[in-house]
Amino acid sequence: MTIYLDHAATTPLAGEVLAAMRPYLEAEHGNPSSSHARGRAARAGVEQSREQVAAALGVTPLEVLFTSGGTESDNAAVKGMAWTAREAGRGAHLVTTGLEHHAVGDSAAWLAEHQGFDLTVVPPERDGVVDPDRLLDAVRPDTVLVSVMAANNEIGTVQPLDVIGPALRERGVPLHTDAVQAFGRVRLDCDAWGIGALALSAHKISGPKGVGVLMLRRHLGAQPVLHGGGQERGVRSGTLNTPGIVGCGAAAELTCRTMATEVPRLCALRERLTAGLLAVEGVGLNGDAHRRLPHNVHVSVAGCDGEALLFALDMAGVAASAGSACQSGAAAPSHVLTAIGAPPDRAHLRFTCGRSTTATDVDAAVAVFTDAVDSLRAAGGGYL
Ligand code: PLP
Repeated sequence: MTIYLDHAATTPLAGEVLAAMRPYLEAEHGNPSSSHARGRAARAGVEQSREQVAAALGVTPLEVLFTSGGTESDNAAVKGMAWTAREAGRGAHLVTTGLEHHAVGDSAAWLAEHQGFDLTVVPPERDGVVDPDRLLDAVRPDTVLVSVMAANNEIGTVQPLDVIGPALRERGVPLHTDAVQAFGRVRLDCDAWGIGALALSAHKISGPKGVGVLMLRRHLGAQPVLHGGGQERGVRSGTLNTPGIVGCGAAAELTCRTMATEVPRLCALRERLTAGLLAVEGVGLNGDAHRRLPHNVHVSVAGCDGEALLFALDMAGVAASAGSACQSGAAAPSHVLTAIGAPPDRAHLRFTCGRSTTATDVDAAVAVFTDAVDSLRAAGGGYL
C-alpha cells in the first residue's frame, strides 16, 4: 500500500466531485454553446460551476473563466494582460519573483526575450518569502503587471499578498497571482488585496485534471493566447470541457465548505511530520516554519542523494517528491531552492498531505524515512 504524500503534485478525485461530473460524462453530452435542449443542459452545468467558483473566490461569475488548468491560466493572464497594456500605451515593464512556477516565470521570460518587454525578477529572502518593500521598489511608472504567487509549490511559503496587493492598487498596477497551491489552504481575499487576476487548477483541490480557472476582473482585458470561437469572454476560445468544469466547481465548493476543519487538521499533521523528519540528524526545514501551506513539509537531508532517497522511499511505499513534480526528471536543484540558497549537495524532499492523510500515515512515513536515510548513508549516500 502506498502512503501518498504528494498532494502538491496532484490530489485524488473526491467521490462527490466524480458524482457531480458523471451526468456530464454520460447523458448530458451537449456542447454548452448549442442552443438546443442538450446544449442548454450542458450550459446550465457550466454556469452552476461558474457560480460555485465565484462564490469560493468572492468575485462575480462574469469574472470566472474556465481554462485547461493552472498553466494555461497563468499564460493567459501574464501574456494577455501584458499585450493589452502595451497596446493601450501604458508601458512594457513586468515584475515577478524568483519563486514563480514556470507557467508564470517562463511566460514573463518569453515576453522579455521575444516580445520586447522589460522584466524585473525580485528574488525571495532566504526564508522563501518575498519582501514586500523590495518588490514594491521594483515597480516603475511603466510597470503594467506584477505577478506574485500566493504560495509556493515547492517549499510551501505563503507570500504577503495582503501587503503587496493594496500597495499596488494604490499605484494603479494590476496584480496577477498564481493561487494554484494556495486556494482552500490559506486565506485569499480578492477584494481587500486588489487581486486583478488569479489562477486555479482543479486537480490540486480534489478535482479532475485538465481544467482550471482564470479569474479576471471585469475592468481588465487580456488579449487571447488562443484564437477561435470566442468562448469565455473571448479570452479562451475552445469548446468547453463540461464534465471537467462541473468537477472544478464541485471541487471548489467542497474545498471551501471543508476548509474550517481541514486546514487545522492538516496543520497538525504538518507539525507531526516536521517533528518526525527533523528528529533525524542532518535534516533541516526549507522555507519559513510558520508562513507556509498547511499541508507542506520541505526538507534538506545531508549525506544523501535526492533521487536515491526518493527511490528508497518509493520502494518502501511512500510517495513524496524531489521538488516540483511539474518538472520531475530534473536532477539539478530547482530555481526556487537555488534562490533561497539551499545547498546543492543535499537531498531536497517535499512531503504534502491531503484529505485522506492520517496521523498513522505520517508516523509510518517518518519511520520509513528514518530507515531509508540510515541505510543510504551507510551505503555512501547513493551519489552517482
Ligand atoms: N502553478 C503552480 C503553483 C503549480 O503548482 C502548478 C502545478 O503543479 C501549476 C501552476 C500548473 O497547473 P496545471 O497542472 O493545472 O497546469
